[in-house]
Order: sequence, then C-alpha cells, then structure tokens
Amino acid sequence: MHQRHNRVDLHLHSTASDGVYTPSEIVHTALERELAVIALTDHDTLGGVAEAQQAAVGTGLEIIAGVEVNSEGDWGDLHILGYYVDLENGPLRERLEAVRDVRVGRARKMVERLTEMGMPLAWEDVRKLAGGASVGRPHVARALVNRGYVRTTQEAFDRFIANDGPAYVPRMRLSPPEVIQTLIGAGGVPVLAHAAHSGKEAVALIPELVGYGLRGLEVYYPHHSPEEIEMLLGLCREYGLLVTGGSDFHGPGSSEGTQLGSVHVPLECVERLREAAGCLEHG
Ligand code: AMP
Ligand code: FE
Ligand code: FE
Ligand code: ZN
Repeated sequence: MHQRHNRVDLHLHSTASDGVYTPSEIVHTALERELAVIALTDHDTLGGVAEAQQAAVGTGLEIIAGVEVNSEGDWGDLHILGYYVDLENGPLRERLEAVRDVRVGRARKMVERLTEMGMPLAWEDVRKLAGGASVGRPHVARALVNRGYVRTTQEAFDRFIANDGPAYVPRMRLSPPEVIQTLIGAGGVPVLAHAAHSGKEAVALIPELVGYGLRGLEVYYPHHSPEEIEMLLGLCREYGLLVTGGSDFHGPGSSEGTQLGSVHVPLECVERLREAAGCLEHG
C-alpha cells in the first residue's frame, strides 16, 4: 500500500484562532494531500471543529476534535494539546471562554502600548482581522503589517510582541495541572505540545506533568532535531507516554509551523491515541 494513505497531522490552526485557512479549507487541503487523519488544535477554542467535521463528512478523512491550551506561570509557557475532547463539555467550554475573554483585554492592551510607542493602531483593526476568533498576537502582528509599521509579521514579533518584547502582554495564567485536569474532565487526552521547545525547562518538568495526568508528548514537530526526537521517544518509553506529532500549520506564508501534512507522523500514533481516549469503536 501507499505511504500516502498513512498520513497524519495532529497540530493545525484555523481561522477559529490564529490560522489563515478556514476549517473547511484545512479539510480540503488535507484531502488534496491525501491525509487520513487530522486534528484541529486551535488556541483556546473548539470553535472550528464542527465546521471541519462537517466538511469531512463522507470523505473518509478523520477529524479529531482538538485544542491547544496555553498555560503560563512559574512553569514557563507550556502549551498543552487536548485530543478527542467532548465539544459539549461544560467546564472545558467555560474555561476556554474565560481565557478568550482575557485574550481580548490583553490584545487591547497591546494595541494601547503600540500606540504609545508611536504606532497608532485601532482596536477595530485587530478585531476585524480576528473575526469572531480567539484573538492572539498574530492578529496584532498582521494589523502592524497592514498599517505599514513592519514589513512582516515576523518582524512584528521580533521587534515588539515576542514574549520578551516591549509591547508584550501576558495571557491568562492557567496552571498546567488545571489545564490537564480540565482536558481529562472533558474526555480528552492531554499531550505536551512541541515538547522539546515548550517553556524553559519543560523536559525536566515532564515527570511532574505525568503526575498531573499528562498522557503524551508531541515528538514529531517541525523544529525538533533528530536528537530531540530520540530524546523525547526515550521519555515516552520511560514514562509510558503516547507519541504524537504535527506541523503546527498556521497558513501557507506563516512563520510559525510548517506546511500541512509535511511532518511524518506514524499512523500507529493515532491508533494509540484512540485507545487512550476510549474511542475503540473507530478502530
Ligand atoms: P498568543 O497565543 O496570542 O500569545 O500568540 C501565540 C502565537 O503567536 C503562536 O501560536 C504563534 O502563532 C505566534 N508566535 C508566538 N511567538 C512567535 C514568534 N517569536 N515569532 C513568530 N510567531 C510567534
Ligand atoms: Fe499560533
Ligand atoms: Fe504551541
Ligand atoms: Zn500550535
């Protein structure tokens, strides 16, 4: 059989957060590239999943309901992916809604700071770019490009809104145990995103995160070196963790992540993930 029917991408962003493609466009691209399984993992929202699932009906492409939740604090900036979450779970929905509300106030503050720094921006610029989505720094970056203050969104990050940038404002601080427990409560499987490049000392924190219920590590990722992949696979064996992977695709011209479907992720990863989520009936 052809390798092409084994293609998996478990880390994708749509217009429901800071991606460029709509959930339907993501599905169409995944079908063009003959992927078998994808997970939509927008930042702090499940808002794109239903559209993706709808667009995939009858195509044979499996859409895993996913989300990428930030946690920030003494732990550094850890991103936790949740897979096979229940879209209707009340506590998860409420938590994500609170996080998105804070994102709006925080994006407004960044707009104010940039304005004070001599780059007048209107909140409306950013709000329009975000549409109804989970608003994030990439929307602020695009607004800066549109006003001509920077040439690229990358320049906007490098000069102003990267984590150590002068106009950066932090997000709501959810702790990793809180995120992990909320995802588990919604029937989801929590996985540490870009595990080798997450927070300052994420790798050292893995045993503690496992204690809180972490179930897997995102091993296959565009910016992970072969040595990092080996190291993470070793940790997965040591702690009995699931192995996942994905492109972190945000859009064709985006500096973050890489092209949809371009990271090799063994189909077996999905089989293990399904078992962990108790979704054996799909197997
Ligand atoms: P936010 O969740 O609003 O803090 O925005 C985080 C998103 O901004 C990430 O998911 C990336 O899409 C993007 N991002 C963060 N840091 C950088 C950076 N240094 N360069 C380019 N994009 C970045
Ligand atoms: Fe992003
Ligand atoms: Fe991330
Ligand atoms: Zn991501």
